Amino acid sequence: MRRNLTVLSLAIYAVATGLFSSPVLADDHVINLYSARHYPTDELLYSDFTKATGIKINRVDSDDAGIIARLKAEGSASPADLILLVDAARLWRGEVDGMFLPVNSKTLEAAIPATLRSKPTKDGTAWFGLSTRARVVVYDKLKIKREDVDTYEELGDPKNKGKLCIRSGSHPYNLSLFGAMTEHLGVEKTEAWLKGMVDNMARAPKGGDTDQIKAVASGECGIAVSNTYYLARLMRSTNPADIAVMERVGVVFPNQQSWGTHVNVAGGAVARYSKNQANAVKFLEYLISPAAQNHFANGNNEWPVVQGLKLDNPALQAMTGGSFKSELLPIRIVGMNQIKVQQMLDRVGFK
Ligand code: FE
Repeated sequence: MRRNLTVLSLAIYAVATGLFSSPVLADDHVINLYSARHYPTDELLYSDFTKATGIKINRVDSDDAGIIARLKAEGSASPADLILLVDAARLWRGEVDGMFLPVNSKTLEAAIPATLRSKPTKDGTAWFGLSTRARVVVYDKLKIKREDVDTYEELGDPKNKGKLCIRSGSHPYNLSLFGAMTEHLGVEKTEAWLKGMVDNMARAPKGGDTDQIKAVASGECGIAVSNTYYLARLMRSTNPADIAVMERVGVVFPNQQSWGTHVNVAGGAVARYSKNQANAVKFLEYLISPAAQNHFANGNNEWPVVQGLKLDNPALQAMTGGSFKSELLPIRIVGMNQIKVQQMLDRVGFK
């Protein structure tokens, strides 16, 4: 009895201290992955990698902010080897806060366009975009004319008063969109545009992108902003409610006549204190292989960062009509503008 109790209390101690769940020693066959990719279709990516290499992936799921906070709290004792985040603003933040270990990989540099990764230093590149997503406008086909919402600028135009639904301005997807606008328009015009959007809101910001799309379909709002993969997910759904949503809403890739539609990245970096660095780089290189890039595209409805791959995704095909013009800003500059953007949001009362 006593022995059983000792075993039990040891087991409780081990779980409580994370002894079993967070190995901190180097191990040839392990990667400790902290991932903000909240997409169930990614499971296949991880299992295929393990099958091909024998390297097991221990995954911790959180959102971008949660992962960065955890890395800070853990410091040099962090077991993390690889970080996956879903936005340029957060990737930039992780780089600036010293969370990443710069990598020198000819494979990654050759495959990923320079605009979709951090600026290389003498030590290497801090983070790499692995897939892209566009931030587009959704509108009620019954009430809104497409030509009134085919630029981002029009989201803040008084003609669209009382019609706009959008998630929180401080969400990384919006910080990056607004950071891109700051590059295109300058601070003064961007702030006026943000103020215009606040004036145009149908309701205070709440929920995620899918909630905004559904609010357009229900008639609560006329216009919303969403990442493309949420739309593609609804387009591929067989649920009658989702089908009805997509029948009601139109999708516009804004600014096709000017600088192009805003595109953000999901990306990866090796953790600063990784004990399994070689494995982490191997995993990043695997993620830009044609098979993994295709899986990003077909599984989570993103676009590959590797150019020239044939895309076999009918929803993305239908949404874009084949292709669209995307803005060509280096994504790191977009991430860098987030502090300026947050100050503007505070000034205009964009929650
Ligand atoms: Fe998302």
